[in-house]
Amino acid sequence: MSSQTFATSGHDPSFRDQFNVVNKDGKRNWIYPQKPKGKWHNRRVWFTVLILTLLFSGPFIRVNDQPLLLFNVLARKFILFGIFIGPQDYWIFGLAMLSFMVFIVLFTSILGRLWCGWACPQTVFMEMVFRKIEYAIEGDATKQKLLDKAPWTKAKILKKGTKYVLFLLISFAIANLLLAYVIGTDELVKIIREPIENHLVLFSGIIGFTALFYFNFAWLRDQACTVVCPYGRLQSVFMDRNTIVVGYDYGRGEPRGKMHKGQKRTEGDCINCHQCVAVCPVGIDIRNGLQMECVNCTACMDACDTIMDKVGLETGLIRYTSENAIVNKTGKLVTARVISYAAVLVLLWSVLGFAIVSRTDTQTLLLRAPGSQFIENGDGTVSNLYTFKIFNKTNHVVKPDIRLKDAEGKLIFAGSPDLTLEAAGMSEGTLFINVPRADLKKRKTVLKLAVYEENKLLEEFETLFLAGE
Ligand code: SF4
Ligand code: SF4
Repeated sequence: MSSQTFATSGHDPSFRDQFNVVNKDGKRNWIYPQKPKGKWHNRRVWFTVLILTLLFSGPFIRVNDQPLLLFNVLARKFILFGIFIGPQDYWIFGLAMLSFMVFIVLFTSILGRLWCGWACPQTVFMEMVFRKIEYAIEGDATKQKLLDKAPWTKAKILKKGTKYVLFLLISFAIANLLLAYVIGTDELVKIIREPIENHLVLFSGIIGFTALFYFNFAWLRDQACTVVCPYGRLQSVFMDRNTIVVGYDYGRGEPRGKMHKGQKRTEGDCINCHQCVAVCPVGIDIRNGLQMECVNCTACMDACDTIMDKVGLETGLIRYTSENAIVNKTGKLVTARVISYAAVLVLLWSVLGFAIVSRTDTQTLLLRAPGSQFIENGDGTVSNLYTFKIFNKTNHVVKPDIRLKDAEGKLIFAGSPDLTLEAAGMSEGTLFINVPRADLKKRKTVLKLAVYEENKLLEEFETLFLAGE
């Protein structure tokens, strides 16, 4: 199951014959990683505080009186950084998603799985929240192993019970957070305040997602990254020998060998202490080379640096580096591949930027009624009959006023339609446009029209007007 992009240290590649999380009997190898500590872990703790603050405050941040981000797939409403994306602008949403994907490809080709180790919610919650609770209640790896093997005493029931109740509560909080991004905080508050029977579907959603998150963080754990996550499986396609990864400097470390006091060392710097393996949350040995399972969590970097400090060798045997930097002692980040990805991304962002800037609040379709002719009126005007549809592309009520621009004449609506448009709503009807005969020099005239709300210009568009020669 393992895949490898780069060369290994020349060791027996048979480690690839077996998936590290499954034992020879086909049963799961439960991983008990040792508690990580060190400078990289401390940096990740601070970054986690930032990420979780952003994640939990995201649904409450408002721009132009609407959420910063909303992904309401149920009502097909999306808000990206305060910009409402309704049905008429789904292509903008598609373009934004495409840009995001290209950005991920570019990011991964330069910085590898930096995202996985530092910002992915799976790693952040698993390693920085759930795992920390586990360490606090059950102790470090060895104690956890012993506790799992121990008979069910009162103390064990208390520890396991406390842990799993806390896991459940946090899973519930994450399920609510997810729903806040889907339906918005206002709707979420309604579910909390109003009787459950009024919101049975959404409430079932919260329960379902709570169960899913609990299953993920209590049982699935590292397998979410190594078996389920498509990004993890694809990353080797995006990466090359210049990509920055958490890598073992096998040129410096090999041949590995124990350190013996008083003996002159003839081996490489790796003292084969296995500390890098003991802390790994996905249970791999980074010394075998880059592996698909590695989430770049930096735990092995800290573990190895601690050992190097202890034995008086230079730190950084496992570090952020690239295969080229290890083998050829050169590493360049900007390769032809990176430049081409960046060019595509700049192009996509330019189109996206233009689409957002030139986007209007309404979209009007005004078409001459099929089969209708122009009418010469007794008052010296000519009438054309049109059908219209006007869409509100915003997330608030709009009262549009359609007016002729740069031309005399008037619009006469059939009936007295209320053009008030609900959020993302639409209105349609029929209207005549009357234009003085004297102003029409040709058989076909392009008329310019505009949509206003009070004196605010929302949209401009054109239509064809017919008259006699
Ligand atoms: S922690 Fe460092 S020294 Fe110890 S086995 Fe891993 S690479 Fe070698
Ligand atoms: S190999 Fe190192 S960086 Fe990769 S997952 Fe294991 S501990 Fe984390």
